[in-house]
Amino acid sequence: MSEHKDFLRTIVEKDLKTGKYKNIITRFPPEPNGFPHIGHAKSIAINFGIARDYNGHCNLRMDDTNPTTEDTKYVEALKDAVEWLGFEWKGDVRYTSDYFDKLYAWAIELVKMGKAYVDSLDEETMREYRGTVTEAGKRSKYAHRSAEENLDLLERMKNGEFKDGEHVLRAKIDMSAANMKMRDPLLYRIRHAHHYRAGDKWAIYPMYDFGHCLSDYIEGVTHSICTLEFENNRDIYDWVIDTLGLEPPRPYQHEFARLGINYTVMSKRKLLELVEKNYVNGWDDPRLPTIAGLRRRGYTPESILNFCDTIGIAKANSTVDVAQLEFCIRDDLNTKVPRVMCVLDPLKVTIENFVGSEELDASYYPDDVPKEGSRKIPFSKEIYIEREDFSQNPPKGYFRLTPDQPVRLKHAYIITCKEVKKDERGNITEIIAEYNPESKSGSDTSGIKVKSAIQWVDATSAKKVEVRLYDRLYSCENPDGLDDLNPDSLKIIKDALIEPAVVAEKPDVRFQFEREGYFYADPIDYTDANPVFNKIVGLKDSYAK
Ligand code: ATP
Ligand code: MG
Ligand code: MG
Repeated sequence: MSEHKDFLRTIVEKDLKTGKYKNIITRFPPEPNGFPHIGHAKSIAINFGIARDYNGHCNLRMDDTNPTTEDTKYVEALKDAVEWLGFEWKGDVRYTSDYFDKLYAWAIELVKMGKAYVDSLDEETMREYRGTVTEAGKRSKYAHRSAEENLDLLERMKNGEFKDGEHVLRAKIDMSAANMKMRDPLLYRIRHAHHYRAGDKWAIYPMYDFGHCLSDYIEGVTHSICTLEFENNRDIYDWVIDTLGLEPPRPYQHEFARLGINYTVMSKRKLLELVEKNYVNGWDDPRLPTIAGLRRRGYTPESILNFCDTIGIAKANSTVDVAQLEFCIRDDLNTKVPRVMCVLDPLKVTIENFVGSEELDASYYPDDVPKEGSRKIPFSKEIYIEREDFSQNPPKGYFRLTPDQPVRLKHAYIITCKEVKKDERGNITEIIAEYNPESKSGSDTSGIKVKSAIQWVDATSAKKVEVRLYDRLYSCENPDGLDDLNPDSLKIIKDALIEPAVVAEKPDVRFQFEREGYFYADPIDYTDANPVFNKIVGLKDSYAK
């Protein structure tokens, strides 16, 4: 549990202490209309985390009351995300659609009590009658229908006798309530659509304000945790439960601030658009803030949970810097993953005075990482270095290889540039170099001082790999639409070269490519014939001001 107790846990502890509840029950209630994103991870971490911390349990409930947008594939993605983050829901997955009969029975009860009525105003008049913040609303003339008439209409609505929008069921509360949401809110609407689970049984579907509180009640939920935009819905939540006179213990709603992150979008509607219009390659595109995307990119569940924990639970909305998320994955991988060498933009170096071949011992971890392990790296006359690790006209402060400045090949020897070969257009094609036999890493007696060590691969044994470099999905902090998409968010390098030890490994592994960043073997596209690595994150925050 986090060291500092958040306001939700403070409430939970008080409720346990005063005996309001014996057992804590929470729920994570997504609508299966898209893949979950990191905002959902936040809600998962809170709901499942609180249940775990107080020996209660958390349900996974599909809030599936909108037949036109929901689908089984999203249910599966949601289950996957919760499991991958390391949580377990109690019993079976719950579905609001499984409660439709019960909800309908409660609706009938409200009608009988004179607390709900069938309204037949057209949408525009209904909106007009709601009034404004400063002006009381006006009740519909249909609010005076008798219970019998309402029951008859409601049943016929259910049976599909009316068209979409012809009638709605509304709570009879107060058309001049200061809280606009309390001005006779809608409880049911007509929708002639096939529901992915309930099929064609229903022609009416409960609204959030009616279905959510009662679903919580059915499941014995104690703390119904939602995001701030539902603050004004809390009065309806309470009204429905109170008006129906439901036996305690009953749930209460508590709100926290939604998670927002800069340079990305976090609404399923916007994410769906990116996916459907092929701006990205599916819901698990590594550029997306979806859990499937982050997972495919190479993020670990630990790093995401740690991020959720670090940012805390707030009561006011704010946007978190994506650099914080990146910090968390770097922090997690730093102590876990082996360091290997990969050259993204290869420049050939021929070491004139080297004869034969050699196997060098190379530790997978730097000294400050308490992990053991090493591999052999082949070394021979022809190697490749990163093109940008050589400069013929070095700027000030350039510490890598130049015609006048030697450099160390990591885990190997110091080399000196002897000659620069170019093609007819003046592009550098090869470096002719010399190595110093006394400068071997770990037993260097050469006395040569170098300013840096660079990665390299041996030409004969290196393997070709595809590397996918990801950048921010949007080019501005608070993206507004498709125009703000970053055109360079994905760069594919087809012929990077990697040391042979790496491709012999199984996929589903992470590495640090020395001096480049952290990489993940793509769980879907990686094959022995075409190894693919996704860049998770760079070694340092390259955007830091
Ligand atoms: P979106 O607008 O992205 O579709 P939503 O709130 O409609 O989000 P739901 O599927 O209804 O998505 O959300 C399931 C749960 O996750 C809800 O309790 C919701 O409050 C929470 N949640 C969704 N987005 C965020 C977020 N950005 N930060 C924290 N919690 C979130
Ligand atoms: Mg929702
Ligand atoms: Mg939504």
